[in-house]
Amino acid sequence: MGMAVRPNILIVDDDDINLQLLVTILKILDVNLILAQSGPEALSKIRDQGIAMALLDIRMSGMDGMELATLIQNDKSRDIIPIIFITGQLKVENELERCYEAGAVDFILKPIRKNILLSKVKVFLELYRQKQAILEDHLELERTVNELIRLNNLLVESEKMYRTLLNASPEGIFIMNMKGVITEISDITHEIFGTENKDEFIGAHFINFVPPEELKKFKDVLNKTQIEGLVQNVEIFLIRKNHSRLICELSTTLIQEANGEPKAYMAIIRDISQRKKIEQQLIRSERMVSLGEMASAMAHEINQPLLSISLGIDNLCHKIGTVSALNEPYFRDKSEKIYQDVSRIGRIIDHVRAFSRDQEEFTSTCFDLNESITNAISMISEQFKNHHINIIVKLDKTIQPIVGNTYRFEQVILNLLTNAKDALEEKMKRSKFDFDKVIVIRTYLNNQKINIEVKDNGCGIESDKIDRIMLPFFTTKETGKGTGIGLSISFGIIKEMNGTFDFESNPSMGTTFRITLPTSDISE
Ligand code: ADP
Repeated sequence: MGMAVRPNILIVDDDDINLQLLVTILKILDVNLILAQSGPEALSKIRDQGIAMALLDIRMSGMDGMELATLIQNDKSRDIIPIIFITGQLKVENELERCYEAGAVDFILKPIRKNILLSKVKVFLELYRQKQAILEDHLELERTVNELIRLNNLLVESEKMYRTLLNASPEGIFIMNMKGVITEISDITHEIFGTENKDEFIGAHFINFVPPEELKKFKDVLNKTQIEGLVQNVEIFLIRKNHSRLICELSTTLIQEANGEPKAYMAIIRDISQRKKIEQQLIRSERMVSLGEMASAMAHEINQPLLSISLGIDNLCHKIGTVSALNEPYFRDKSEKIYQDVSRIGRIIDHVRAFSRDQEEFTSTCFDLNESITNAISMISEQFKNHHINIIVKLDKTIQPIVGNTYRFEQVILNLLTNAKDALEEKMKRSKFDFDKVIVIRTYLNNQKINIEVKDNGCGIESDKIDRIMLPFFTTKETGKGTGIGLSISFGIIKEMNGTFDFESNPSMGTTFRITLPTSDISE
């Protein structure tokens, strides 16, 4: 509220002594006295200011008190004010009436008595103060109402903007309260889920759209959002209205109250079904290349046990023909060897079959990554031997099984080994003289992470290509040999296993690829 201004009191009397008397009595009040000795003087003095009340002498020469009062009250620019007339005595009945008509609220008779004057003036001053206070309150209220209207307009405006943003995004956006109940949803979201209208979402629990096997992942995302405020691009399967599945990337942000209390989650979903399909196709075509390479490798792999089998059988036949008494231990030993070779062929064939299966069937299980590496090596070892490449294997046997897909992991190792082989061949081609071609593949634990290293002493990567080799379709190999997607697919597989994938390389030393993977908490 503004500073209280001292109220103005107009006092008009053409008798100077009377005027002075009134001033003497009234100056003890906290008021501002405006004095005039005639009607016109009074009118000109109050022209630009408001007055709380007036004390007017009735009988004055020229304009009398009643006339002055009428003029004051008729001034539409000001409020009606209380007027107290000062008079010796009222002459006729009708003068009293005229005074009231002119706005009189009271009379003071001469000779003026100090106490009567003071108490009357005080009453009207008090009334005036109360009126001012009400007026002030009223103004304040009006200001508040205006501010509310302004805020509401702003709110409507920003709500409009927020809605436009919400619906303009090509990604599905929705808001969930802290219990996971949907409170707001963009148009695209309900298109993604194939629902008729938004009302099917509002008020529903989002876990209705999460398949049971993804529930844990979904809850983990929400928990992490609560702690870290933000989770980005988590791949998750969700369920459409027609019960079909879609694969999405889910990102969530925590919305907080002004006081920091968590209030809701904003979730963004991107339907990546299409992208996944393309990725699958890429993986498939990459596997076709691997399969082509593997076919020749397989021939070598199978050839060797086959040779040994035919040799064994040949031996046995020979023995049966030459020795009269059958030597049982000899027989058993030979048959066992043959049996082992046959099983080895069986294993190789099984393996190739599993490897060429559709990737979608590959679910995550617990697997021993050393075994996975051994399997990958067994698929190429004959081929590498023929190229005089020495593979040194150093596996840390204490590494516990991890969660993932053994075939996909094998694919990564096969990619790295094939790249290493190509790098060794390339160096051979360039240098024109022989050198020891070595690939070291090593697993070890470091800082509670599993490390897998594939190191070669091949041609290395030139510095101008280092930044590009991970890009899909970047290859330095002749067409038909390289697809350029081996590394990017490997990177994708390792990322899916929450691992990291990097490398060091230079043309004089060769190349080392390093994968790190988190150790699985089996108790989970
Ligand atoms: P591709 O093997 O089909 O070319 P990749 O994505 O597996 O596709 O590899 C991309 C490129 O990275 C290769 O063409 C090669 O230039 C380089 N590269 C990968 N591994 C090695 C390595 N061990 N030594 C040297 N260069 C490598």
